[in-house]
Amino acid sequence: MTPPTHFNTQDKLRFKLPLFFPDATAASIKSLDMSDVANTKTKGVLVNTLHLKVNPGIQTINKAGGIKKFMNWQEAVISDSGGFQIMSLIKSRGSLSKVTDDGVVFQLSKKQEVRLTPEESIRIQMDLGTDLVVVLDDFTPPNAKKSEAEDSVIRTILWAKKSKIEFERICSRKKLIKKPYLIAVVQGGKFKDLREYCAKKLSEIGFDGFGYGGWPLDKNGSFDKEIALTIKKLAPENYLLYGLGIGRPEDIVFCTSIGYHIFDCVLPTRDARHKRLYVFNARNINDINIKEKNFYSYYNPDKKIYSDDFSPVSTACDCPLCKNYSKAYFRHLWKTNELSAMRLSTIHNLRFYSLLMENLQKNGKM
Ligand SMILES: [Zn+2]
Repeated sequence: MTPPTHFNTQDKLRFKLPLFFPDATAASIKSLDMSDVANTKTKGVLVNTLHLKVNPGIQTINKAGGIKKFMNWQEAVISDSGGFQIMSLIKSRGSLSKVTDDGVVFQLSKKQEVRLTPEESIRIQMDLGTDLVVVLDDFTPPNAKKSEAEDSVIRTILWAKKSKIEFERICSRKKLIKKPYLIAVVQGGKFKDLREYCAKKLSEIGFDGFGYGGWPLDKNGSFDKEIALTIKKLAPENYLLYGLGIGRPEDIVFCTSIGYHIFDCVLPTRDARHKRLYVFNARNINDINIKEKNFYSYYNPDKKIYSDDFSPVSTACDCPLCKNYSKAYFRHLWKTNELSAMRLSTIHNLRFYSLLMENLQKNGKM
């Protein structure tokens, strides 16, 4: 058994690991079209099962011939299971939605209720035709007591069993020669013994990889390295390791150094819309050194000092913003609320992440 070195798509593309997948939640990234995304050298995106079920509906995507055809995207696509929404829409809000052993009922509004079972989550993802499918898991809330964390682990294992059966059933019905990756999520919160139990039971069922389950930040907002290491140690050697929602550059660098392969996060695109740009502390692209402690900084276009600065935002970037425009012009675009400001910011941040991953592909394992 050897650790994975490449990510294989169902349509024969093969990408060097590690890879970062920005969130194209409802099959798009705000302010960009998919050709913009491809031009940032992003190799794959993540789409969201629950959002696509609601809008435009899986039938439409089926008719289009799958998610890649629907959004005209030739590279990799991974899908999440809807598991994170158990946290973001239910457990953190105490809404009318419920989680039972059968699945989840999301009460999206007074009139709109969406049900999702582990089996259905798999069916939707298989209909989408994504390259990596994630099993629905019961998210352990960040401050869960042990008994609560235990319940989420037991349910996660139960759902994983159901999901695996459904996955195999669909693969044999469709006579798939090349199956997508099937990833299970290790829950258990901060309780190491529960993480161990969860990982052991999941590897007995058999998957292609493990996901880092739960909230990745501790109460001080620092990344929980201990849990990342625990999951790594518990995973069989040939498993893909997926840091769900892990997106801060230093956290990606750390996780890659201990053997993680895949990441997704809203951070680069959401930050771009809030004027937070990521820039390498380097003079040019060849000088980028991710092994340095402070290898990047944040850039905010608003500062008065930039109003007559005609240099580029970053000389260690080859995106359209940095190649074609000055800090002064970029500041002006934001000041005048031009839509292009958001677009250029998002493109820049995605290129920052693709450059980060290119560097990690070359020398990520420390
Ligand atoms: Zn740039």
